[in-house]
Amino acid sequence: MNDEAAKYLYDMSEGRADMKVLLGGKGANLAEMKRLGIPVPDGFTVSTVACVDTMEAHGRWPDGLWDDITAAVARLEERTGRTLGGEKPLLLSVRSGAVFSMPGMMDTILNLGIGDETVHALASEADNPRFAWDSYRRFLQMYGDVVEGVPPHVYEDELTSLKARRGVAQDTDLSTEDLQELVATFKDVSRRELGRDLPTDPLEQLRGAVDAVFRSWDTPRARVYRKANNIPDDLGTAVNVMQMVFGNRGDTSATGVCFTRNPSTGEHELYGEFLVNAQGEDVVSGIRTPRPLAEMEGVLPEAYAQLRQTMHDLEAHYKDMQDIEFTVEDGTLYLLQTRNGKRTAAAALRVARDMVQEGVLTREEALQRVEPSQLDQLLHPAIDPQHGRSPVTRGLPASPGAAVGELVFDADTAAERGGAGEPVVLVRYETTPDDIHGVIVAQGVLTAHGGMTSHAAVVARGMGKPCVAGASAIRIDTSEKTLTIGDAVYHEGDLLTLDGTTGDVYGEALELVPPQINEDFEAIVSWADDVRRLGVRANADTDEDAAKARELGAEGIGLCRTEHMFMAADRLPAVRRMILAETEDERAAALEQILPMQQEDFEGIFTAMKGLPVTVRLLDPPLHEFLPDLVEQSLLVQRLELTGGDAQELERARVLLGQVKRLHEQNPMLGTRGCRLAMLYPEIPDMQTRAIIRAALAVREREGETVGVEIMIPLVAYASEIKAQREIVERAVADELQAAGASLDVTIGTMIELPRAAIVADQIAEHADFFSFGTNDLTQTGIGISRDDAEGGFLTHYVTDEVIPSNPFESIDQDGVGGLVQIGVDRGRSARPGLKMGVCGEHGGDPESIQFFENAGLDYVSCSPFRVPIARFAAARAVLKGERRADG
Ligand code: PEP
Ligand code: MG
Repeated sequence: MNDEAAKYLYDMSEGRADMKVLLGGKGANLAEMKRLGIPVPDGFTVSTVACVDTMEAHGRWPDGLWDDITAAVARLEERTGRTLGGEKPLLLSVRSGAVFSMPGMMDTILNLGIGDETVHALASEADNPRFAWDSYRRFLQMYGDVVEGVPPHVYEDELTSLKARRGVAQDTDLSTEDLQELVATFKDVSRRELGRDLPTDPLEQLRGAVDAVFRSWDTPRARVYRKANNIPDDLGTAVNVMQMVFGNRGDTSATGVCFTRNPSTGEHELYGEFLVNAQGEDVVSGIRTPRPLAEMEGVLPEAYAQLRQTMHDLEAHYKDMQDIEFTVEDGTLYLLQTRNGKRTAAAALRVARDMVQEGVLTREEALQRVEPSQLDQLLHPAIDPQHGRSPVTRGLPASPGAAVGELVFDADTAAERGGAGEPVVLVRYETTPDDIHGVIVAQGVLTAHGGMTSHAAVVARGMGKPCVAGASAIRIDTSEKTLTIGDAVYHEGDLLTLDGTTGDVYGEALELVPPQINEDFEAIVSWADDVRRLGVRANADTDEDAAKARELGAEGIGLCRTEHMFMAADRLPAVRRMILAETEDERAAALEQILPMQQEDFEGIFTAMKGLPVTVRLLDPPLHEFLPDLVEQSLLVQRLELTGGDAQELERARVLLGQVKRLHEQNPMLGTRGCRLAMLYPEIPDMQTRAIIRAALAVREREGETVGVEIMIPLVAYASEIKAQREIVERAVADELQAAGASLDVTIGTMIELPRAAIVADQIAEHADFFSFGTNDLTQTGIGISRDDAEGGFLTHYVTDEVIPSNPFESIDQDGVGGLVQIGVDRGRSARPGLKMGVCGEHGGDPESIQFFENAGLDYVSCSPFRVPIARFAAARAVLKGERRADG
């Protein structure tokens, strides 16, 4: 290890904002603030390297770490003129600080260094015994919980029982004597729970605290959070050790949290909360409901003015919205943390757009401030504004969006039922980091307690989950599993609707409406259009979908599946006649009936897309899909036989059953489908081609323009298949054009959705004007997984157990299936340089896969209409990441 690059410990004055990997986000930003001359308590940071080395040695600290820490403490004592455990005591805070922020997931210990002697020294120095004893009881509680593993409720129960005995509601109502009693009780708790006292030597405490923070990297909740947020498990956390400043030193002290802009809406306005005479955890934990920041002006005017100026300076320095923690000790302001604030999707867009308008960011920079998943959130539903129902209660609008689900009262039940796909709403008195697994799968979260910066609010906003916090009128009984609002009692499983945008709660399921795409959204996505290289098309097979796709910015249709057109109730009889036909004439007659219906479908789609290209895929699924189910048809025949019903009906049912049996296949997805079917029944592609050409000409006649007609042959494995199919299609096109006396440009291409097709792409390219990678089938056949059987089965376990990083049907398996795509691209273009290529599997709308397709050198992606804006944006991000292969 290079000493220059990685030490185990850095004094705060040695750090900078760009040292996050070593110092964690908090440590790096504290150092940066110190550099900028912003008041920050002095201290040092134990680096992530020390944590990683400790984890690798199964918990054993690396040589030299402890010496580094004791030396740093000595330096800090020197600088502050105080000593740990001394007459003029130095008290420390010990906080975790990972590279990527994980709000509330890891541990903190405050007031370290306090003991039976120092408590008196602290009391007389501050001239405030109550404050000193309050700090002492907090230390015992936190150390016992975090370092020694005493269940936190044991302390909370003692605190609650003391308050009950004294007849007071707030912690701040307890007297010095009460707090002294509590300290004695907490010491008893340690003896009872651990069989010994907590360590009294401050250095020993510090060692225990640093070690506990290291360990907190690996708690189940931290792991769950990292998994949900794609944070690697091997980064480790830094540990920030700082001189304590006290927000609980009386009425001229306070602690608070603020954002430089509104993290829910993005509006440039004052946003924050504070509590007088409190320590940091009181604000974020939701134990006391804090006051709006604006009220601080009247209480602590000088510190308030300084805070406002600092907020402004920090935002200008970082060029991003900041999330700030501060403490005021006896009127003096200290910053304890600044970081880029987590925000809702709507706020992310608003802030990015405003900052471009304010001249702070370029458009490219702004695009990198928004995540594709945030656009996705904005495409989520809201409560139908016409609902006309009254809310049963109201809380704080902590994270916007609407959620409907069945009421559950604990995170485990939420995880179980939500994980099984049931919509649930998690209702808690307040959430803690241990609830994270329930929050992840819930539709939304409702809490009785806590403010806009409470744990539930911060976590829900980060995930784009609706959250109503601090709904103080609700009563929750977790043992009875009841929620009482006024006179109404709700039980587990009852339906609730939350509106995280307004804070309203409804005791019923309300209709949700599709989201509105606002100006911020449009602006950001249109900037993305100026940057992206990949084209973006949509998969659509109705005129409504086509119109929606066009409205959302699709540049054409990349996949128009034709099978749905055959399934419609008015089509099915003719389709079945075609399948059951005994002779070619019978089949031709049935197809003759289907043709005008197909033509009508195409006319609708072509009208919606006129001026743009449309890729129509010829019939793909196996024919049995248009026939009744084998078991059902057998039962029908049996029933008719047993009841001796109508002879004609029985005969018809038998004929159909015979046909169903004949068409039955063991593995239909690998059977007679795609072009294989068309090879057996060339009349089908012939009819479909004629319908396409007639539709295109009719639309041109009527509308003055038509679409770019692209006809696509599915499930090709052999060059000879596409060669034969191409001839059929070309003949039908020529026939139709000749009959109409018209001309029309038509291209004929193929799907590459079988491994063999990718491997012989050079041979196939000889007969194809374009390729479209069908990554759904390519994933099934490339990995050898049947999607319908695997999802909800072993594949779920594979993802949960991290056998594979993600579901390969959602995000492309880059090494395997992606490798096949790359082979297909390279070999196809080796035979036909510049061959147009796209992708129309579901991966075409997945941002990570889009990055891969950008690098692989495809020309366009095609995805479902609602994902078009995300794909446009993700395609720009892929360019900005600049990872495109030089030869791609
Ligand atoms: C594919 O296989 O990726 C594809 C788009 O076709 P389908 O999903 O219709 O099989
Ligand atoms: Mg397919």
